[in-house]
Amino acid sequence: MKKSLILLFLLLFSGSIMAQQGSVGRPKLVVGIVIDQMRWDYIYRYYNRYGDGGFKRLLREGVSCENTMLAHIPSYTAVGHSSIYTGSIPAIDGISSNDMVDQKTGKTFYCTFDDKVKSVGTTSEDGMESPHNLWVTTIGDELRLATNFHSKVVGISLKDRASILPAGKSANAAYWLDSKTGHFITSTYYMDKLPEWLIHFNKKELAKEYLSKPWVTLYDINSYEQSCKDDNPFERPFFSGGKPTFPIDLPRLLKERQFNAIKTVPMGNTLTFDMAEATIQGEKLGTGDYTDFLAISCSATDYVGHQFGVNAIETEDTYLRLDKDLSNFINYLDEKIGKGNYTLFLSADHAAAHNYNFLKAHKINAGAFDIKQDYAKIDSVLTNKYGVKGLVRGLDNYQLNLDYDKINAAHIDKEELKQVAMDYVKTLEGVLNVVDMTKVSSTTLPAEMKVLLNNSYNSARSGEIQILVKPGYFEVWSPEESMGTSHGVWAPYDLHIPLLFMGWGIKQGQLNRMVYMTDIAPTLASLLHIQMPNGCVGHAIPEILSAATLDK
Ligand SMILES: [Zn+2]
Repeated sequence: MKKSLILLFLLLFSGSIMAQQGSVGRPKLVVGIVIDQMRWDYIYRYYNRYGDGGFKRLLREGVSCENTMLAHIPSYTAVGHSSIYTGSIPAIDGISSNDMVDQKTGKTFYCTFDDKVKSVGTTSEDGMESPHNLWVTTIGDELRLATNFHSKVVGISLKDRASILPAGKSANAAYWLDSKTGHFITSTYYMDKLPEWLIHFNKKELAKEYLSKPWVTLYDINSYEQSCKDDNPFERPFFSGGKPTFPIDLPRLLKERQFNAIKTVPMGNTLTFDMAEATIQGEKLGTGDYTDFLAISCSATDYVGHQFGVNAIETEDTYLRLDKDLSNFINYLDEKIGKGNYTLFLSADHAAAHNYNFLKAHKINAGAFDIKQDYAKIDSVLTNKYGVKGLVRGLDNYQLNLDYDKINAAHIDKEELKQVAMDYVKTLEGVLNVVDMTKVSSTTLPAEMKVLLNNSYNSARSGEIQILVKPGYFEVWSPEESMGTSHGVWAPYDLHIPLLFMGWGIKQGQLNRMVYMTDIAPTLASLLHIQMPNGCVGHAIPEILSAATLDK
């Protein structure tokens, strides 16, 4: 009896040791940081002026995948954020643009707008958002599934879509900024009221504080050698009739734009990291038995980029400030979660072009693809031929959206109409090629471009005819858009993004072979020993992962 009790005890004891030894090693927390519109070359363009604790620390202690490309077009925010966290592509994940066109009804809809949910934390309609248009799981969803929902997953950003889509379908929360109050809010998709810690955080009115004084450069303005002089014709001024120069009157910007103002200046990134720290503290992320996941997106970089372009002091200053914010945040992670206990990755949803007038001034081919004017021309060509107006509903996302109801009602041969439209579009300024997306395989195109186009075409939500502009060109809707810059096309300056990993399970060094945005999620899946997201088409990047993460 005694012997068998001892034996039983030994068995239980050794069993518990075995369970411990056999546990799956995982970091306490995974943090994703997506810098909206960050070009890969910004790592090196401003390298000499970065401090030791931000980008330089990621390069020094982590690994940089130097040639990381988007696997889709249009190179827009919602599409990129979805692809990073799902490892998927518009053809599969359903997010084919920020504003998509339902090909059956012709209705345009915003990627995360959801009239079935209500705002939480504000009386404005800014909270009527959810991930209902996303068709697949994110890496956060897979982490939740793999741990029987013990892991917490939260997304935060100033932009709704940049918070909601990364977090995924089963996320505990996604928080974004309310333009009316400057507070972080959410929707009833996630919860019915804000948590106490967030109510407390919002009461600090940080957005208001950051907008209470002018934006001046961090350093002597003459030291910004990577940028054009402050006053130049390639940048879009904040105030009509004004100059695009420092100091920038932020109290006036707040008056004119409400709290959307904070999204457009680098202090918006500081606020995002303030919120990230409050979230880690409030949700107790990285302190439990299960790995948690925080998806952060810094959106201010995108607005600054659009406003001022690549070669602007405003952009340079924004990245120097971001580097400081990043350094502070990594220090916070070291303190709260512990060095080596978390895995961090940093990437971008897309990159950006140079301003085309700036390129022209330096004799480089570039120009505007004048959307409004070109749409009117295409419509008149088709109206003249078929006697029906509006056979093409619109020109969105560099795609022609056909009105199938009108085409059918007028008994028009759709194939012929497409050819007529395409032949005409080919003659327009800045057009490189036009592709019938249902016939990519039989079109004469470089092989890489065929893959890119096939990845990008979602027959329910994308226009059937894709316009490929010449390098250096981007679409322009209004004269103001000839200043500053944009993104969205197939060319490498829009597709080449930074990808840095650091921390638990990550080697140190540099990887030069080409990898894709779609490889990020399966790499994280591999690191965490969980299933890759259910629409994933990417491949894990084995070179950057430490050999053994089991049995820790
Ligand atoms: Zn943008």
